[in-house]
Amino acid sequence: MNISIIGAGIIGLSTAIKLLEAGFDVTILSKSTTPNTTSDIAAAYWAASDLLADEQKRTLGFAARARLLELAQTPESGIRQLPLLVLSQADHKPDLWETLPDVRELPSGQFAPPWNHGFSFTTFQFDVPTYMPFLYQHLEKLGGKFVSREVKKFEELDADVMINCTGLGAKALVADDDLYPIRGQIMRLSRPDDFPEQIITAEDASQVSYIVPRIKDVILGGTYQHHRDDEAVDQKTADAIWERCLTLEPALSQAKLLEHRVGIRPGRPLPRLERDPHQANLIHNYGHGSLGHTLAWGCAERVLEIVKSL
Ligand SMILES: Cc1cc2nc3c(=O)[nH]c(=O)nc-3n(C[C@H](O)[C@H](O)[C@H](O)COP(=O)(O)OP(=O)(O)OC[C@H]3O[C@@H](n4cnc5c(N)ncnc54)[C@H](O)[C@@H]3O)c2cc1C
Repeated sequence: MNISIIGAGIIGLSTAIKLLEAGFDVTILSKSTTPNTTSDIAAAYWAASDLLADEQKRTLGFAARARLLELAQTPESGIRQLPLLVLSQADHKPDLWETLPDVRELPSGQFAPPWNHGFSFTTFQFDVPTYMPFLYQHLEKLGGKFVSREVKKFEELDADVMINCTGLGAKALVADDDLYPIRGQIMRLSRPDDFPEQIITAEDASQVSYIVPRIKDVILGGTYQHHRDDEAVDQKTADAIWERCLTLEPALSQAKLLEHRVGIRPGRPLPRLERDPHQANLIHNYGHGSLGHTLAWGCAERVLEIVKSL
């Protein structure tokens, strides 16, 4: 059975690898590839906040962890296990927070007010400048093929099975009113010596801040601007991100700004992960919002089950 996967972001690459490992003949067709996808802009860590509240996302996110644990044993993958500190102003923890690995409550007073409450757990950090090329090379080693091409209609393709992993690009291929852009602005800084190896997130009703140390640099964020797809950097937003993050981590004062970046997430209430109701050989796997890296391996497993059931 030959399979065409449309899209070479984190979702397309992970899905392709899963299918190649199961013995299928896989070709990826994509307009862009690493480092020019939204997946290359992501912070990126296995994120729990949005995940725990929904059963489908929770199942897919936890299903991904076994593969991520394996990858974390291979330093060349760029997957690392790090503590994630989740700070809040009120003592309000998400439901099921106690199911997170190595979870513990943080002592109050560890962070400056208003961040009086928090918990930590062990998460995965996806060092995308390492991880995306690693996946790409792994795919080629497994015999996967890549064609640089924009697909305008699924009817153009001659494959036994097609898998739509086009992220926000799906808007042009399928009628889906649920899919919309979520703008994310971040800053990339140099990594000071002895910078703490922990991810910090701090969230209140109006904004989210995060500090993500990577292997060679540090990412600061962020924004979740729903229904916005403008890619120009907004300096006021950047200034606000910097001030919030510096308060959370004073060691950032030693860091130098390298660049600003904007990425547009494929927002959807839930990812679309199903066979197309009208075209029997088409499977959709898009709309992962702020959780593409978190969910990718779980979604890839689900796609494999669907393909095997055809
Ligand atoms: C600032 C920021 C921070 C983030 N942080 C995190 C995080 O910490 N954790 C996390 O889990 N997620 C995070 N995300 C979300 C994550 O990046 C996305 O969910 C993920 O990138 C979606 O992956 P994708 O493969 O579906 O889409 P993309 O990466 O956009 O890839 C889509 C692919 O499809 C191709 N394509 C589209 N249309 C066509 C077409 N018609 N023909 C051919 N090819 C086509 C594109 O060229 C591209 O290769 C973050 C996102 C941003 C912007």
